[in-house]
Amino acid sequence: MNFILYAVPFFFVLIAVELLADRWRGVRNYRLADAINSISTGVLSTTTGLLTKGVGLLTYAFALEHLALFKLSGDSVWVWVFAFVLYDFCYYWLHRMGHERNILWAAHSVHHQSEDYNLSTALRQTSTGFLLSWIFYLPMAVLGVPLLVFVSVAALNLLYQFWVHTKHISKLGWFEWCFVTPSNHRAHHAQNALYMDRNYGGVFIIWDRLFGSFQEEDANEPVIFGVTTPLASWNPLWANLQFYAQLWDDAKRAQSKWDKLRIWFMRTGWRPADVAAQYPMHKPDLSQFRKFEVPLDGRQQRYVALQFGVYIALGSYLMNLEQSLPAAALLLGWSAIALGLFTLGVALENRPWAWKLELLRLASNLPLVWLAPLVGLWPASAVGWAGLFSYSLLSAIGLYWCRNRFTRLAS
Ligand SMILES: [Zn+2]
Ligand SMILES: [Zn+2]
Repeated sequence: MNFILYAVPFFFVLIAVELLADRWRGVRNYRLADAINSISTGVLSTTTGLLTKGVGLLTYAFALEHLALFKLSGDSVWVWVFAFVLYDFCYYWLHRMGHERNILWAAHSVHHQSEDYNLSTALRQTSTGFLLSWIFYLPMAVLGVPLLVFVSVAALNLLYQFWVHTKHISKLGWFEWCFVTPSNHRAHHAQNALYMDRNYGGVFIIWDRLFGSFQEEDANEPVIFGVTTPLASWNPLWANLQFYAQLWDDAKRAQSKWDKLRIWFMRTGWRPADVAAQYPMHKPDLSQFRKFEVPLDGRQQRYVALQFGVYIALGSYLMNLEQSLPAAALLLGWSAIALGLFTLGVALENRPWAWKLELLRLASNLPLVWLAPLVGLWPASAVGWAGLFSYSLLSAIGLYWCRNRFTRLAS
């Protein structure tokens, strides 16, 4: 059952509630560019997932068929309870390794790049987790947890994690002892040395208490959110590639073949000695910490926010119709989303070529309207043509309206 799809409207309602709570308390936990960047990685992650989920499903189904020691029935409530707890145990190890090993951190770091902490941070998800995360759930197949139960508890686990990404809820008494909470998950998102690599649980924090990775949030050490090597970008594609690119560069520069290979599997942050000496990397001083920010005019912000709505709609459309859409349609939809979110990221960074790229994106609606019915993304219809044409025209007018602002701040 795809719980995530049905949860999407609730995510946005709760984000609106949190924004009201911010206003009520006179605090500012949201910045538009950061929230758009976080939700962009979420849209990219879910739509990439439509194309790549086969990796996790097929490997799980294969292991269930050939390696299962038992055959558990999805009719028993105890199997569901067992699977729910076991999933979180596997998640704990995936998540822990996701922080402790270079190649897994390259995927997971996306979730941690935001320097704000709010419900939109929960939607900040990786698009490359599918490459290796399936390995950590194979024990569930070996123990005979049926595929449907596995998929359902996975979605429930992810859903649970949504509400803990808020600064509005303080410590919750006895609940802190067994469950992942806003307080102990805030500590998990910190870049302060005290909190580094702590609190990996998804639903249960007991794993951290058992395996020595628990750290309580300390009022004397306010959390500074983010990663120690800042992303310093609003681009959701770069967010997914940044750490892979760094590892790739280091592997290329290393003299020893062994170093070129092992860098991917070493502890996070490990670099070959010759590369580290030649290309030193300095960690920023946290006492001087300032959030990444690009000044952006109000008109530009409104323009980007409105355009962003289009991609939320397109992403939801793909998720809704996933079952009935051919792979080519999903691929075309994904490409349109990736190009669009990339372009909006460039606009948020106010790069000098942002408006040219935006024009190119609008022009790309023309081949899109021709290709989409061909691959079955949507049926060919005059209404569709008219809709996309009006959207492009309105956007072009909007862009013209902002034209000076897209260049003024950049120069
Ligand atoms: Zn993490
Ligand atoms: Zn988190």
